[in-house]
Formats: sequence, C-alpha cells, structure tokens
Amino acid sequence: MPPTERSHEFADVGDSEAQVIVVGAGPAGSTAALYLARAGVDVLLLEKGTFPRDKVCGDGLTPRAVHQLVRMGVDIDAPGWQRTKGMRWICDGRQVHIDWPRSGSHPDFGLTRSRHDFDDILARQAVAAGARLRLDTKATGPLTDRGGRIVGVCAITGADKQPQTYRAPVVIAADGASARTALAMGLERDRSRPMATAARRYYRSGVRTNDPYLELWADLLCSRTGRDLPGYGWIFPLGDGRVNVGLGALPHRRHGAVDLRATMDEWLLRLPPDWGLREENADSPLRSAALPMGFNRRPQYHRGLLLIGDSAGMISPWSGEGIVQAMEAGEVAAETVALALHRPGGTPREQALHQYQREVNRRWGRYYRLGNSVADLVLARYGYRPLLNRHVMATPALVRTLARLLTHGSDAPSDDLIDTAVRTLVRMVPAQVQRTRSKR
Ligand SMILES: Cc1cc2nc3c(=O)[nH]c(=O)nc-3n(C[C@H](O)[C@H](O)[C@H](O)COP(=O)(O)OP(=O)(O)OC[C@H]3O[C@@H](n4cnc5c(N)ncnc54)[C@H](O)[C@@H]3O)c2cc1C
Repeated sequence: MPPTERSHEFADVGDSEAQVIVVGAGPAGSTAALYLARAGVDVLLLEKGTFPRDKVCGDGLTPRAVHQLVRMGVDIDAPGWQRTKGMRWICDGRQVHIDWPRSGSHPDFGLTRSRHDFDDILARQAVAAGARLRLDTKATGPLTDRGGRIVGVCAITGADKQPQTYRAPVVIAADGASARTALAMGLERDRSRPMATAARRYYRSGVRTNDPYLELWADLLCSRTGRDLPGYGWIFPLGDGRVNVGLGALPHRRHGAVDLRATMDEWLLRLPPDWGLREENADSPLRSAALPMGFNRRPQYHRGLLLIGDSAGMISPWSGEGIVQAMEAGEVAAETVALALHRPGGTPREQALHQYQREVNRRWGRYYRLGNSVADLVLARYGYRPLLNRHVMATPALVRTLARLLTHGSDAPSDDLIDTAVRTLVRMVPAQVQRTRSKR
C-alpha cells in the first residue's frame, strides 16, 4: 500500500498511537521501521537524539550489509560511500589480502560510511517508506497492562522534556547496548555471553583514506601485561581524507582490565609516520563503547516486546560486527510483526509473535553458538594470533575459510567449496533448545 493511502487510513489514530512502536533509530530500529512501513503497518519510530549525530563505531560494512542496504533502497552510488575490495589481515610481519567473494548472492564489495551520516540516511529511508519518526524523544520506560504486557512507552520529548505517552499493541526495542526498554521489562543480560569493549578515533590520513581494503591487526599487545590483545585493531578508510582507527577487546581474567587507550598509543607508534596516525592529525577524541555479543539477552520476544540489534546482544562474537546483524534482525522482526497483526489479538497473535525468536534461532543460532565457544576458548584468552598463524596465512583456502567464518559470509546460496565447508561446520553445532519464558 503506498504511504499516502496508509497515512490517510491512520489519520484518526492520533500522533501518540500506532500499530507498532520502535524505540531507537539506529540501524536496527530504522530497518525494522522501514520494513513495517513497507508492509503497510503504521509505525512510530522514537529516537532520543537528533540527526545527524555521532555514534562510536568502526564504520565498516561487509558485503552482507551492502546487500541489506540495496534491498532497503539506499542509494549507495551517492557521494560519501567508500567501497572496499576486501580485508587485509596483518600478523607477525605477514599480511594477507582476502577479496570479498565473487560467488553467492551478496555483492562483491564492502562499504564504509561514518555513522554520523549512516544512521541519518537509514532513518530518512524509513520515513520515506512511511514510518513516523519522532526525534528528541527518549523512551523512559514501558507502559504495561495489568498482566505485565507492554502496551506502549512513556517518554520525554523536546528541549523542555515534556512527558508523553505512546501506545501500541507491539513494541520493538532497538535502543542499543543500554537495552533500557528490555531491562525495564525484566530481561537481564546473560553474563556468560561475551561483552567486549572497543574504542575508536578518526585521523586525517591522505595516505590511507582511499585504501581499498579494511585493515585488521591481529598482533597487538596489551600495554600493561605485554600479552596478546584479546581482540584486534583496525584501520578503515573513509575516502574523505580520514580513517577510522580503533581496537576492541574481549574480557577475560587472564588480561584483567585492558587499557585500550595505552594499547592503541603503543600500536600507533609501530606504524609508519607517513600514515599520519599521530596526535596532530587526530580528528576526534578517542571514544569507547560496549559491544553486547552472542545473543546475550533473551528471550528475544517477551510480552509484546521484541528485541533487535544491540539491545538483544546481537553483535557477532566472531568479529564484533553488529550493523548488519541489527539490520537483518530488524527485517525479521518487522516481517513477524506484520504477519502477527493480521491475526486476531490474544493467543493466535501471541503465537505468531513468538515465531520471532524461533526464526532468529533458525537463521543464526548455530553460528552464534559456535562463535561464543570460539570467543570463550580462543579469542578472549589468546586473541586472533592463533587463528592467523604462519600456516594459516600461507594457505589461501584456509584464510578464505576463516574470513567467511568471521564475517558470516557463507549462508547465501553458492557453489563455492569454502561456503559448503563453512555451512557444514556450522550445521554440526547442536541446535538451541527453545525455552519460552512466558506464554502470554
Ligand atoms: C568501537 C566500536 C566499533 C564498531 N565497529 C563496527 C563496525 O565496523 N561494523 C559493524 O558492523 N559494527 C560495528 N560495531 C557494532 C555496531 O556499532 C552496533 O552493533 C550497531 O550500532 C547496533 O545497532 P543498533 O541499532 O542495535 O544500536 P545503536 O546503533 O546503538 O542504536 C540505538 C539507537 O537507539 C537510540 N536510543 C537509545 N536509548 C533510547 C531511548 N531510551 N529512547 C529513544 N531512543 C533511544 C540511540 O540514540 C540510537 O540512535 C562497533 C561497535 C563499537 C562500540
């Protein structure tokens, strides 16, 4: 249904009511809102900030993310998008280039784009599809009925923080790592799942800004202990004269608290001076944020509330990538909700909404379970150096297999033997037993 027809149809519901409320207009929320609007659903997208705005991120997008952007109708040929050919991994003085695969259904290039613009573009795309976006509107807590089911959110809006109530029979939490809405509904984080920390800074670097590869360093040492960083460092080209430089670390008692700033300072001193990654060329402060990983908040559907993106801990435990995971979950949530709204309220609709968690698990459950184990047994203890050892780096097929595992690039249909091997490996992981916390 075209947006004009739909907005006419819902003209009488009032500005504070909708069929679905989405809290947070990051990649997860804007994607969910876009697909809901495309399905003819009246959706209200609440965002506490205003656009454009900064967000701590590496700004790197794999072909899988490009695929999602194209499907959403984003004009990736417009100025500001920087294409990448693949990844360059560096470890112990060796480097390998891994071009993005040319097989399968994903594009054969990646992108970078500063989140300053990226989130704005996605939110506009959702609005163009018919979503109603309310900026400067912070959800402060869920509105629940007597049975504890969410029926909307309380919020404060505008510079004068006016209290406002928004109502909808279904709410999607896309409020990022803070997971405020989920927490208020009693959904605690699973502390056995990884929660990394990462920091990034922009530098002006004429030498590196047009690099066609995402560069990843696997041999960084923690400044305090001298042990391998339980993570990696990155230099991502933005094509506008700047690069995004950062590093992330998984927590482990072996390392204690990793001083990301000091570790980054020591790493940057190793790099050639003509790259310009020095204090005088810094274009931003160093900022850090948490990366909730490995589906660390469940159930992903609970009493009228669906969790998507970082609010559900959907960052990949393999790589720290979270944008496309947030977008894909947004699409799955939107499809589930659009179908559920066609069912009568009560049990039939509830059963349809429960389908969301099953679908997430069907698509990504095994891959995340394997990733959680690898993160726990290898990455959090020893970092990426054991994976990128001399033998692996000298064997192109092994490097490509590793790259597909890290970027989850092998679930699109393909005849490629590497994809078949990776898919077989993932299929060997036992399926997650579904537990439903509440039948409501
Ligand atoms: C240093 C670092 C580097 C990273 N690098 C990459 C990378 O290169 N590639 C990649 O794919 N991933 C990367 N990630 C992960 C990625 O940033 C996240 O996974 C992704 O942003 C998740 O999207 P989201 O929409 O779930 O959450 P967010 O992007 O956090 O969006 C949440 C939105 O909700 C809004 N919000 C929050 N609370 C409320 C509220 N109460 N009311 C209304 N609105 C609210 C926020 O303002 C925000 O706009 C990185 C993360 C970090 C920390």
